[in-house]
Amino acid sequence: MGIIRELSDSLANRIAAGEVVERPASVVKELVENALDAGATQIDVELEEAGMKRMTIRDNGHGFYPEDAELAFVRHATSKIKDEHDLFRIKTLGFRGEALASIASVSKVTLKTKREDQEGIQLTLDCGRLTDRSAIAMNRGTELTVEQLFFNTPARLKYLKTTHTELAAITDILNRVAFAHPDVKLYAVHEGKVLIQTNGSGDVRQALASVYGHQTIQGTLVATGATADYQLTCHLVKPEVTRASKNYITLILNGRSVKNFALTQAVLNGYHTLLPIGRFPIVVIEVTMDPLLIDVNVHPAKREVRLSKEAELCQLIQETIRLTLSRQTLIPKVTPPK
Ligand code: ADP
Ligand code: MG
Repeated sequence: MGIIRELSDSLANRIAAGEVVERPASVVKELVENALDAGATQIDVELEEAGMKRMTIRDNGHGFYPEDAELAFVRHATSKIKDEHDLFRIKTLGFRGEALASIASVSKVTLKTKREDQEGIQLTLDCGRLTDRSAIAMNRGTELTVEQLFFNTPARLKYLKTTHTELAAITDILNRVAFAHPDVKLYAVHEGKVLIQTNGSGDVRQALASVYGHQTIQGTLVATGATADYQLTCHLVKPEVTRASKNYITLILNGRSVKNFALTQAVLNGYHTLLPIGRFPIVVIEVTMDPLLIDVNVHPAKREVRLSKEAELCQLIQETIRLTLSRQTLIPKVTPPK
């Protein structure tokens, strides 16, 4: 008699959840990305105990069809891609169909959702299993509440840091969303304290101001550049304002905030000697390109990406920043004649 067996869906989901939902911030990221993919123009986030006790993400996006809502919690169920062809032309933030299944398997979830032309529904799930389904009245959009995150994965619960640290990770995610999607009104509150509030004007500078304050971002330079493959816009907070970590360099590729060592290095090379040793700039780099040039299917949480023409983009970033900053510092300070 053999000893190999297929794991149950619920166990498989819980194992997979380890890769997608490491901590409350990863849940916030996945749910906010879902709201963005649903075309939301307003997203509200409410948190208790840095999301560990409870978090609610509300959006005014297109909502779920009543017949889709349950399926959305099945692993690899997605509306965003349908075949291999789509996999190489990803225009949405999600596509793996893993987040809702993973999140629901390690928490208690309530989904309220309504499409324009459909009736509203509410589902509750416990460890990924449906416990209730009912009709409700609400406006178009979706509200997802996640409670008791990781209550059934004690090892993960133990690994979580203090509320303060988990909240900092959430704020970092939300700030990046604000920079990448300035056209979306983002509001987040933790136990009565506002974490971020943007006005959805579409202007990255206003998003920068709401995160760092008007004072800090005064004199921010905007530089643009392009090659045949890439269109680049850089928002460079004046070089006198520096930080002790590279975390304030935000790279946004086709609307997705990513981590990439080579591109970050290209930004720093662009500044060259303008930065004191051990200090780093506040920068938002936006790049648009053909989705064929970027492989986002490298990491389950999609933080890392692979670019097929990385060196070309590095060169463009470095040169655009270098030129803009050198022009700025070369402008002679006009002293009035005596
Ligand atoms: P993915 O985003 O990779 O498709 P998810 O597990 O995050 O996978 O979501 C599964 C599906 O549920 C999505 O493809 C989408 O159709 C639907 N969905 C999730 N969140 C929302 C939302 N906020 N509004 C509308 N539809 C949503
Ligand atoms: Mg998703």
